[in-house]
Amino acid sequence: MTKKHVDIWEKCLKVIRDNIPYQSFKTWFEPIEPVKLEGNVLTIQVPSQFFYEWLEEHYINLLKKTIRRELGPTGRLEYSVIMDSAYSESKPYAVKIPTHDKRATKNNPVNMPIDLNPTKTRDIPNPFIIPGLKKIKVESQLVETYSFENFVEGDCNRLARSAGWAIAENPGKTAFNPLLIYSNVGLGKTHLVHAIGLRVKNNFPEKTVLYVKTNEFVNQYIESVRNNNQNDFIHFYQMIDVLIMDDIQFVAGKEKTQDVFFHIFNHLHQNNKQLVLTSDKPPVELKGMEPRLLSRFKWGLAADLQVPDLETRIAILQNKLYKDGIEMPYEVIEYLAYSITTNIREMEGALISILAQSTLNKKAITLELAKQMIDKFVKNTTREISIDYIQKVVCDYFNLPLEAINSKTRKREIVQARQLAMFFSKKHTKSSLATIGLHCGNKDHATVLHACRTVNNLLETDKRFRVYVEEIDKKLKL
Ligand code: ADP
Ligand code: MG
Repeated sequence: MTKKHVDIWEKCLKVIRDNIPYQSFKTWFEPIEPVKLEGNVLTIQVPSQFFYEWLEEHYINLLKKTIRRELGPTGRLEYSVIMDSAYSESKPYAVKIPTHDKRATKNNPVNMPIDLNPTKTRDIPNPFIIPGLKKIKVESQLVETYSFENFVEGDCNRLARSAGWAIAENPGKTAFNPLLIYSNVGLGKTHLVHAIGLRVKNNFPEKTVLYVKTNEFVNQYIESVRNNNQNDFIHFYQMIDVLIMDDIQFVAGKEKTQDVFFHIFNHLHQNNKQLVLTSDKPPVELKGMEPRLLSRFKWGLAADLQVPDLETRIAILQNKLYKDGIEMPYEVIEYLAYSITTNIREMEGALISILAQSTLNKKAITLELAKQMIDKFVKNTTREISIDYIQKVVCDYFNLPLEAINSKTRKREIVQARQLAMFFSKKHTKSSLATIGLHCGNKDHATVLHACRTVNNLLETDKRFRVYVEEIDKKLKL
């Protein structure tokens, strides 16, 4: 004779099976085991807190109906949560569950207290645990060269960098949880989050750090659905101490994945585990995200990486060359930093192709070679003569120090150089008058407009001046 609770649960399952897709049934209901029936309270055992939350969120009504059907209008359901095997060696599984769920009201006979000291009756098969080893082994997927040592500090990255550093000293225990780093492509997000991970590993070798590209996460999730082992997937992520998700914008529009990530996020956050995320936009501009997930992103700190200024760009190139033990004339480095302004990855790409060219053709690395390469390299991508570069060419032409343009001085020759820089910036860049003014001695747009008029007037009246302008223009287009 079968036990009463088994019978009752069987009957419930029959109804449930007819009401949800087969795959969902297999995933969320087959693993459940009925434990006991006491009066009108049926206790069922679920494999994890996540499981419980999922049922609560997605199947509460269905469960309510079926339980009432079998046990009458006062029928209740209680859960017992199995400890995650990853936690079984340490403290009891500490679930933080509100004692009064908002749904467990007077009108809702389905009450869901959780047994906080569940007995561990069934091991969850977990492919990430190596048999015989209690401790999980997780490959962190971190790239050694993306370290803090190799990450050049500048105004553009100071906040994100120091927040990252603080986290690595104290993962999960700072206010920066999650830390969300955002910027356009090629500005160092991936590098910085690897640096954080590496430093955590260095400071706390016992902590489990995982770097994962969001695309990979999405694919793993899809795969787990296909193989019907979502639970293993979720448990795996819930075991991580420092979870680094790169390019989180890729979960946009993927509701199921966001759902799963939401629960993983909550679990980790509740247990003081650290989350580090990157995205290509600030949280407010991320489209296709569930509001509740977005609101979580705002719990910690969102810090951006900006386009590095010229000095930082030069330092980044020098750092890279030094690390690789390569020497290169300073003027070439400078030229590179002047020419490619908005994307560090592109700047490094140009550097690499110059090195390759010089090795392949056994040519010395000269400014000429660099110019040829950059032209090929940048023309069809982002080549826009920058304001910085224009200033440099103008100053070189008149033999003036670069700082002169940004100084307050009213010396005639410097005023003229400044006006020329403004004139060429208007001609060759898409920058606004205000931006040009800002970069040429912190002037306003009216000053820039005046400069352009002055240069145009002189072009018509002053032959020698016209020669200057033509020669500079030629140099700019080299
Ligand atoms: P993102 O993830 O924002 O697209 P990456 O982290 O991939 O950018 O950075 C692109 C390249 O620029 C990488 O090779 C990285 O090492 C380099 N880089 C970016 N910022 C810095 C920096 N501050 N110091 C040194 N290298 C940097
Ligand atoms: Mg990246």
